Amino acid sequence: MVTVLDTVNRRVRHPEKAHRQDNKVLKKPDWIRVRVPRSKLYTKTSDIVHANKLVTVCKEASCPNMGECWHQGHASFMIMGEICTRACAFCNVTTGIPFPLDKDEPKRIARAIQQMSLKHVVITSVDRDDLPDGGAQHFAEVIQAIRKQTPKTTIEILTPDFRHKEGALEIIVAARPDIFNHNLETVPSKYLSVRPGARYFHSIRLLQRVKELDPSIFTKSGIMIGLGEERNEVLQLMDDLRVANVDFMTIGQYLQPTRKHHPVICFIPPDEFNSYATIGKSKGFLYMASSPLTRSSHHASDGFEKLKVARAAQLASRR
Ligand code: SF4
Repeated sequence: MVTVLDTVNRRVRHPEKAHRQDNKVLKKPDWIRVRVPRSKLYTKTSDIVHANKLVTVCKEASCPNMGECWHQGHASFMIMGEICTRACAFCNVTTGIPFPLDKDEPKRIARAIQQMSLKHVVITSVDRDDLPDGGAQHFAEVIQAIRKQTPKTTIEILTPDFRHKEGALEIIVAARPDIFNHNLETVPSKYLSVRPGARYFHSIRLLQRVKELDPSIFTKSGIMIGLGEERNEVLQLMDDLRVANVDFMTIGQYLQPTRKHHPVICFIPPDEFNSYATIGKSKGFLYMASSPLTRSSHHASDGFEKLKVARAAQLASRR
């Protein structure tokens, strides 16, 4: 379990949570336990990340899949620093006042992608409510730098919600990522306790607007379950995403980063994840990834290939 004190930077990682009472931590079931193999390939991935002074969501979010992904030479980058302006109850990223943008970061991201020979990359960011455009232009510059350095790499961006940032989404869409991902994270009834700085219907509308602006961009969204949501709420959320024409949905088990974070209410068994995947397909998603260890960027490259195949089949069936 991660401590509330960030031992590398010697600062309180979650100052807004430090005085909260401890939540009970449930013992993980067998299907959640993961091995963390430290292989030569894992070290190579780590060396490239550090040499280019990059931040990864793998590490910042304490992702349970890090051993597997880094061993396979995959990492997902988190841009615009490692300090977030929001304080979601589920998230392990540090909250505080972020540093100014690093103008050299897009080039370093592109260089790392080339060194890692990534076919597909996921770029996410902290929330930057302090910036007039929420960081949209920086996202666009990262996309442009990758296109220039490794034109064959497909790009998936996982963005904040750009609330109160007029024109931000248009900047992102104009940069033409292959996949636009924005996670709903949870069902609407849990927003106040889990994602208090966000608004459910704003996030739905953001995803819908991407399709209106450029229907060729795939859209994707994900949630964590085990936060106390009802099954019917998940099914309703799927319908809301389909109304917004979202192509790809991910569902994974919420894991509690520290005692100060939102508790895991229950561990959802694998069968239930399979059932959500089946229902999602029947509701019209081109692709569903649903398992306890599913994360937005887990096997993202495979997901992109499957999306392309599913869209081609869909278009062929309409001819
Ligand atoms: S699932 Fe995503 S965030 Fe987790 S280790 Fe893999 S690439 Fe990183």
